[in-house]
Amino acid sequence: MELACLDLEGVLIPEIWIAFAEETGIEELKATTRDIPDYDVLMKQRLRILDQHGLTLPQIQDTISRLTPLAGAAEFLDWLRERFQVVILSDTFYEFAAPLMKQLGHPTLLCHKLEVDGAGRIVDYTLRQRDPKRQSVRAFQLLNYRVIAAGDSYNDTTMLTQAEAGILFKSPQNVIDEFPQFPAVHEYADLKKAFLKASERQLTL
Ligand SMILES: [Mg+2]
Repeated sequence: MELACLDLEGVLIPEIWIAFAEETGIEELKATTRDIPDYDVLMKQRLRILDQHGLTLPQIQDTISRLTPLAGAAEFLDWLRERFQVVILSDTFYEFAAPLMKQLGHPTLLCHKLEVDGAGRIVDYTLRQRDPKRQSVRAFQLLNYRVIAAGDSYNDTTMLTQAEAGILFKSPQNVIDEFPQFPAVHEYADLKKAFLKASERQLTL
């Protein structure tokens, strides 16, 4: 049995923090896991910046409500779900992802949770577990699934390594250069081919 694990931001939807940084004009909020590989360090920086500017969850959700999945993402996901069981493994938060999940037909999503006070201020966050993407793949493997995973960034690389097959999708060149062991593709048509190839290869093992 095969399971497909997909990253969310940068693969199916735009980077939420970059969209919010562009709306607010706060340059420092543009940093992502592509720039700061340690997610805890990155999130603490983001929350500090939000506090400095007095920004709350409803303001971020307002930005997110105007976002749409990447062109072709919904069709790709439908294609994939016809052929594999699909689980999305993301370092985003349920509070952010909900409106976009609706546009993608509510696929299964494992991610994190925010802690918000009565005034909408994000006071903290709860990471589901350490190294969550890799641990999820491990857990699926214990359930006798073989995992094919695709993601774009540093926070995906342990997931891609743990999986039976890993694919870089729409990755920046520095990630592609640092992880030459993974095939790198940039279009959904090529990602479909990469999934089929990874699947066929497993069938012949
Ligand atoms: Mg990503």
